[in-house]
Amino acid sequence: MSVVGIIPAAGAGERLGAEVPKAFAVLGGRPMVEWSLDVLREVCDRVIVAVPPNRVEPPDFVAGGATRSESVRNALDAAPEATIAVVHDAARPLVTVELVRRCLDALEGVDGVIAAVRVTDTVKEVEDSLVVHTPDRGRLWAAQTPQVFRAEALRATVGEATDDASLVEAMGGRVRVIEGIRENIKVTTPLDARVAEMLLAH
Ligand code: C5P
Repeated sequence: MSVVGIIPAAGAGERLGAEVPKAFAVLGGRPMVEWSLDVLREVCDRVIVAVPPNRVEPPDFVAGGATRSESVRNALDAAPEATIAVVHDAARPLVTVELVRRCLDALEGVDGVIAAVRVTDTVKEVEDSLVVHTPDRGRLWAAQTPQVFRAEALRATVGEATDDASLVEAMGGRVRVIEGIRENIKVTTPLDARVAEMLLAH
């Protein structure tokens, strides 16, 4: 068994408004991506980071793609030996070793496991400013990363999506959901960055 960690970190992060690509913006005193790198390195045999092409310097940094899915694919291609892939966004610096381990422990009998939290807002589907559907909140979970997969299931995926699990689902793969942690927020906006700074300080 060979576990590869994959960190997509090639996004521009325009909504954050930083001077540098989001994953390299300083958060809690260090480039954001380093928080996730430390955690994944504790759990994985090897960690590959997909970064903007001009930042491919250290070993195991590969050039990301135009989309998140392409970035993940480039990283996975660099680890043909992998039997299990742990994908985790650089944009979620509050991940913990414990959460990654729980995902890995739940992989028995399925193709993938994702961390997710129950949705607390009521979610509306909207078209042209009009509500077209209100899904039953009791069945809704907000997907996070880490998302762990049998590497062969992830390698078989095609196309683009906002997470890797949906590509595995589209191939008929079985994906299990485990309870994530609320602190594991995705840093997208300047407000998220402020919240993450506070959480990282504790
Ligand atoms: O844009 P979003 O916040 O969904 O990005 C999630 C993660 O995917 C980030 O860590 C970002 O750096 C990464 N990403 C990437 N390659 C892209 C776009 C996003 O690795 N082309």
